[in-house]
Amino acid sequence: MIRLVGAEATAALGATLASVLRCGDVVALSGDLGAGKTTLVRGLLHALGFEGEVPSPTFPIVIPYAPPELRLPLWHVDLYRIEDPGEIAELGLDEARLDGALLIEWPERMGGLLWPDTLRLTITAEGADARRLTWHGSPAWEGRWPLR
Ligand code: ADP
Ligand code: MG
Repeated sequence: MIRLVGAEATAALGATLASVLRCGDVVALSGDLGAGKTTLVRGLLHALGFEGEVPSPTFPIVIPYAPPELRLPLWHVDLYRIEDPGEIAELGLDEARLDGALLIEWPERMGGLLWPDTLRLTITAEGADARRLTWHGSPAWEGRWPLR
């Protein structure tokens, strides 16, 4: 468990994650609306060199990023508005993963279809001014998460 006090701490955690992120990685971000999932992705994208605004990918559901704006291809995905897991197949996430990383908010919408090697992060509110981050790793992330 990592305690994150203030939004800057959430963004900094995203930047830390950026330092170990590779092509083929999937990071699932769980947590209520307003937990800080997009804040974490924003910190991660800026650490990968992206200098622009990072909107929340609600419409559209997927926002792709790619070099030269950042170090590796990455799709920022928010499945909040998905109602039927069948809609997810149309997004082409499997293909995107072949040469990039996926950061997925609301991964619960995928039902059991989430890849087994996903790093699953959960952000939970701890009062109004802090969050707690917990995770469920996988062999693909051994030695990379949690960071030491
Ligand atoms: P989500 O994508 O999970 O819906 P957002 O990242 O869009 O959430 O919004 C999270 C809100 O919580 C923002 O207002 C942000 O400033 C704030 N926030 C993020 N992390 C923390 C933290 N560790 N402590 C306090 N506030 C935070
Ligand atoms: Mg969000």
